[in-house]
Amino acid sequence: PLILGIESSCDETGIGIVRGHTLLANEVASSVEEHIRFGGVVPEVASRAHLEALVPTLERACAGADIDLAELDGIAVTAGPGLMGALVVGLAGAKALAYALDKPLYGVNHLAGHVAVDLLDHGSLPDPCVALLVSGGHTSLLLVEDVATKITEIGSTIDDAAGEAYDKVARVLGLPYPGGPHIDRAATGDRRFIRFPRGLTAPKDLVRHRFDFSFSGLKTAVARWVEARERDGEPVPVADVAASFQEAVCDVLSAKAMDACQAYGSQDLLIGGGVAANSRLRALLAERAAALGIRLRTPRPILCTDNGAMIAALGSEIVSRGGRPSSLDIGAHSSLPVSTVLL
Ligand code: ATP
Ligand code: MG
Ligand code: FE
Repeated sequence: PLILGIESSCDETGIGIVRGHTLLANEVASSVEEHIRFGGVVPEVASRAHLEALVPTLERACAGADIDLAELDGIAVTAGPGLMGALVVGLAGAKALAYALDKPLYGVNHLAGHVAVDLLDHGSLPDPCVALLVSGGHTSLLLVEDVATKITEIGSTIDDAAGEAYDKVARVLGLPYPGGPHIDRAATGDRRFIRFPRGLTAPKDLVRHRFDFSFSGLKTAVARWVEARERDGEPVPVADVAASFQEAVCDVLSAKAMDACQAYGSQDLLIGGGVAANSRLRALLAERAAALGIRLRTPRPILCTDNGAMIAALGSEIVSRGGRPSSLDIGAHSSLPVSTVLL
């Protein structure tokens, strides 16, 4: 099927067009520059930016894919989770298009989109398969029995998301927002310089929280270490602190992902979400997966961060499985659970 995908859950306005598993266009307009001076996404600013970017981004995508909107088999749109005001803009645009063109509308889950995008890079998913979802707002291990219909969360963070920890630690180190890519580049030092805590990995935690994560203690430990250093008037070795912090995050993420694959008998591990673009996470997972004979599916980095192609890919899979279209009066859901793939 030929599907248009619209994404507007946070600060990226994304329009993607796919035919089956083939990516035809992926245009992203980001308002990140407008949020930098606030050190985080300002919801009102993001909503306004989506409103301005939606039509031009749609036009660029259609021109790039060389398709006419009349040829579409459906329009998929992020219905949640995300910022309410931002979601509403994409949803209103998608409904208007669906109504005007008389095409079916599919209101879908953004997190399931982070998983489905891998179809564009590596084809059909083996089922069942374990997915590590690591983004700015979420960090979970998922059992994906069918990306279009059945996703179960087997563990998640009990406090901060991995991306959130990256963004907060970047601020402590004086690196710009969003911190993830900056820490990734700055982490050229010694990964064993400081042994930062690995949350929820102690034997007692593994009883109740085997597949859960915790990053807020790590963030605090980094902040304390840096403060003590500054108090002593010593320079902060940014490359070493960044590398040590990153190692703590990636060590836990990859260890628990491997454990989940073994516990659920999955030969395949898929990763998705903005933090899945991280170079150290990709390297460590590749190393550990190879040692255990687990196949690793890593979408290319630009498909890991928010985009419209992921929403189109999920829509395409839903249409192929005969999923029923959403009603034109669906609403946006800021905390939609990952198990609700389609509204
Ligand atoms: P969610 O998907 O949970 O709603 P989101 O859509 O805001 O959250 P994404 O766009 O999927 O999040 O991911 C953004 C996050 O990814 C940010 O926290 C950012 O710092 C992080 N990130 C992006 N690139 C990298 C990288 N190379 N290394 C580490 N983190 C990264
Ligand atoms: Mg973003
Ligand atoms: Fe996201």
